[in-house]
Amino acid sequence: MSWISIPDGSPFGPENLPLGVFRYGEEEPRVGAAIGDQIIDLAPVASAQMLDGAQLFTQPTLNAFLAVGRSGWRATREWLLDLVGNPAQRDAVEPHLIPQSAVTMQLPFEVADYVDFYASEHHATNLGRLFRPNAEPLLPNWKHLPVGYHGRAGTVVASGTDIVRPSGQRKAPDAPAPTFGPSQRLDIEVELGYVVGTPSALGRPVSVDDFAEHVYGVVVVNDWSARDLQAWEYVPLGPFLGKSFATSISPWVVSLDALATAAVPLGPQDPPVLPYLAGENLENYDITFEVFLNGHLVSTPPYKHLYWSPAQMLAHMTVNGAGVRTGDLYASGTVSGPEKDQRGSFIELSWGGREPLIVDGRERTFLEDGDEVTITAWATAADGSRTGLGAVSGRVLPARS
Ligand code: MN
Repeated sequence: MSWISIPDGSPFGPENLPLGVFRYGEEEPRVGAAIGDQIIDLAPVASAQMLDGAQLFTQPTLNAFLAVGRSGWRATREWLLDLVGNPAQRDAVEPHLIPQSAVTMQLPFEVADYVDFYASEHHATNLGRLFRPNAEPLLPNWKHLPVGYHGRAGTVVASGTDIVRPSGQRKAPDAPAPTFGPSQRLDIEVELGYVVGTPSALGRPVSVDDFAEHVYGVVVVNDWSARDLQAWEYVPLGPFLGKSFATSISPWVVSLDALATAAVPLGPQDPPVLPYLAGENLENYDITFEVFLNGHLVSTPPYKHLYWSPAQMLAHMTVNGAGVRTGDLYASGTVSGPEKDQRGSFIELSWGGREPLIVDGRERTFLEDGDEVTITAWATAADGSRTGLGAVSGRVLPARS
């Protein structure tokens, strides 16, 4: 319950309280918490209450806050819950509520490193069938380790950033030589992104049990992908220019504490994983995405089927001694469910372009110039209540010559 009025169906109820960075008029960007359709401008509230760490909210990114670690995150959450839940805080907070419609949301944190996994069995199987039609869809390593690659941190962009259609080399299987030009198979990937707060030391792997010590929360990710560039370049070293031109993330970082009610046990893993990937209580999240193309719902991918848990992804990413840093982002890989209308990319939804889907009365396969894609997500608690993650949007602009 809150003394703040929250519209029905708002993703941002009184127990969610995600953090983001907003710009209001000509003022410096700073940290706010979302509640209903408003933002609590945290810097002046924290400063007036002489809160330890009040300066964390005057920053133009969340990185300083992310670096304080779990005890600080917990204390901040307790404070936020009191601000919105305790009527005695009304006089202190109400003057610092800003309508979300009056601000521009920024990239919430400076991305340190960006890693992208491939943890959905449905997606990996679909892509295997499409990219390697005459072979086993899953490669031999897939159920032994969470497959991933290093992406490009510097091109992770805020929701709302326009996406210029990339150009590059592509070669159809039956073409004699590659050609250069704008991607003709521009696509999306619906993903969940994990945001690292507490760093780990070089040379010291992070255990699956320490996931929540290092990871602060999650964002919605759209890993824009040029399938024609990807198909030609990806053997033998994996994705490169087909992915690195842009990755969009949602503006609000939802904490693991807010997501706790949506945690579900990880599904069975067969064959058994190696000891460093094994845990007693590995969890996944019951999160549902909605994908809109120009305002029309085209897919509803469910996260809970993912084969690898985020704790296993973190353990695997550091098992060789690689450290993680504050601001690291690692994404799940495309989330696809078992049903056709639960696929998290257009290459799957249109089966390689051969089975167009009908959107607003038109046959559609890959993205066209001017298309706008919006992905929203919410977590479902056991009691049916929802914790929204907000939305990530982007519009495709024509290639630049
Ligand atoms: Mn991806």
